Amino acid sequence: MSSFPYTGNRKPMKCIAAIWSGYSHSQCTRAKSIGDYCKQHDPATVEAKRKEKFARWDAESKAKNAQYARESRLAREYPLIAAEFISYLEDIGKREWADEIRERIK
Ligand SMILES: [Zn+2]
Repeated sequence: MSSFPYTGNRKPMKCIAAIWSGYSHSQCTRAKSIGDYCKQHDPATVEAKRKEKFARWDAESKAKNAQYARESRLAREYPLIAAEFISYLEDIGKREWADEIRERIK
């Protein structure tokens, strides 16, 4: 049994990273590779992955915002087709989008 943290029971050749299983912590079972960590848990790798994930999230969120801005501008600037657009959104099951647009063109 591995125990975490700081009980003195950890094996010195193992990576010291803590793994959260969803209900408890345990120690990573991989061998040390970079400093006290395995390749996966090396802080530089973890940080690079975090940045990569954030960059992807940021790009996706900008694209979504741009799309949303276009859609809501369209609805706002063309009131005659707004009702049609809203009913289209409802038809395709995007009721919350339809409500949002209704709210924005009030
Ligand atoms: Zn590890």
